[in-house]
Amino acid sequence: MTPHKPSIDIIGEARCTGCFGCQSACVRGAVRMALDADGFYKPVVDRKKCNACGVCQRRCPVIAAEEGTLAVGHWREPKAFAAWTKDEALRLASSSGGVFSELARPILDAGGAVAGCAWGENWTPEHLLTREWGDVERMRGSKYVPSRVGDIYQEVAAALRDGEKPVLFSGTPCQVAAMEAALTSVQRQRTLLVEFICHGVPSLRVFHRYLDELFDGDSIDSYTFRDKAFGWQTVLAVSSHGKRRHLPASEDAFFQGFVRYHLYGMESCGECPFARLPRGGDVTLADYWGCPEPWNDKRGVSLALANTAAGMNALERLSDSGRIELKPVDLATVLPHNRRVSTAETYSVPAARRAFLDGMARGERFAQLRARYFPTRLQLLWHSFRQSDSKWRFLASFVQHRLRRFARRDRENHVRQ
Ligand SMILES: Cc1cc2nc3c(=O)[nH]c(=O)nc-3n(C[C@H](O)[C@H](O)[C@H](O)COP(=O)(O)OP(=O)(O)OC[C@H]3O[C@@H](n4cnc5c(N)ncnc54)[C@H](O)[C@@H]3O)c2cc1C
Ligand code: SF4
Ligand code: SF4
Ligand code: SF4
Repeated sequence: MTPHKPSIDIIGEARCTGCFGCQSACVRGAVRMALDADGFYKPVVDRKKCNACGVCQRRCPVIAAEEGTLAVGHWREPKAFAAWTKDEALRLASSSGGVFSELARPILDAGGAVAGCAWGENWTPEHLLTREWGDVERMRGSKYVPSRVGDIYQEVAAALRDGEKPVLFSGTPCQVAAMEAALTSVQRQRTLLVEFICHGVPSLRVFHRYLDELFDGDSIDSYTFRDKAFGWQTVLAVSSHGKRRHLPASEDAFFQGFVRYHLYGMESCGECPFARLPRGGDVTLADYWGCPEPWNDKRGVSLALANTAAGMNALERLSDSGRIELKPVDLATVLPHNRRVSTAETYSVPAARRAFLDGMARGERFAQLRARYFPTRLQLLWHSFRQSDSKWRFLASFVQHRLRRFARRDRENHVRQ
């Protein structure tokens, strides 16, 4: 470890995950996390207050990943399960199988506390620590933007210091690693760490710009990235005047720009150092893409990985008490469908990302930026062609596809006449 420098000086902004670990580590108050012009939380160091002690380096998960000190003692081969709650309403209100809420329930029943991410003011997610089931309901559901972690690591450590009760902390893998680094080994024993498989987070500023234009300036009454009214992956937005916008995530422009075109994701997510085995957290949750047929269900199925004995016990207790279904699966069958379990699966960041974010910072509308920077169909086709293993096979299947489409149109016209 390089001494005498704040962690951000060691790793640089491009690798910083905005986890708030250094802010929480610095007892001199020299680090303040602030939303940067691109829409990601980054540390700002007050050089006058910093005495170059280097303590924040020990709490930076990116440095820990580099030094190989993450997930020490965790199982290199986690035990994998298809899992879902038997509570129908809870399952429908959750992103996948509702396992997070079920893990939280016994912690609260035992008088403990739960930390997770809920929507705060102005559609800005934030972490909070609670002893109330009502707040766990607010944490439910994935928010695909960075969470304002605030002082949550100190709050969790204080709750563990002051009492004998357990605490569950949930967040992205980088946040979970930062949480673990903030705990003493005694505090860690009473903490259940729950992370999820993470594709990354898109810019909070782009999200807010997109929301501003969604209903032509009407404010938003409710917003769900994962509504389950039809299918498992739809976005539902309702305006304050009751206008509704409900469509598959694959057709939602904000999702497309983030997941498909990588135009405004956080830079560090492309090569996420936490997407590997052994996983951090006692339990890792994910959407079970490629779930075996008898359990595949539109109401949502979680992939649950037990990475430690504590994680395994927590899942088994829920299963034994009849709260969840827990079906063992072979880890090897899971990996091809959710590669971020074990590999960063780097996506190349397009050159247009910088231009998109600069345009957003200049105040341009989301619709304008979308028209200018989302690839055209021709560009997408050219890209797929270049990526294909066999160019001839690609061309043959393209021609076949077009011929089938012509034939279908022809048949439809025939029927209409
Ligand atoms: C940004 C993001 C990216 C994801 N990427 C993938 C992926 O690539 N592949 C995959 O299989 N699954 C991904 N997930 C996880 C998945 O969507 C579900 O969260 C997971 O299946 C657990 O579902 P559940 O029904 O048990 O929990 P839910 O009830 O839906 O619980 C949601 C949990 O996520 C936490 N959370 C929500 N939003 C945030 C946020 N912005 N920051 C920190 N914590 C948050 C809440 O605290 C809560 O604990 C992602 C989730 C998020 C938030
Ligand atoms: S005072 Fe120490 S902990 Fe605070 S920013 Fe400087 S090096 Fe980091
Ligand atoms: S990754 Fe976290 S701890 Fe490291 S510099 Fe960034 S905000 Fe600070
Ligand atoms: S992809 Fe990695 S770096 Fe990005 S938010 Fe998720 S865990 Fe953090």
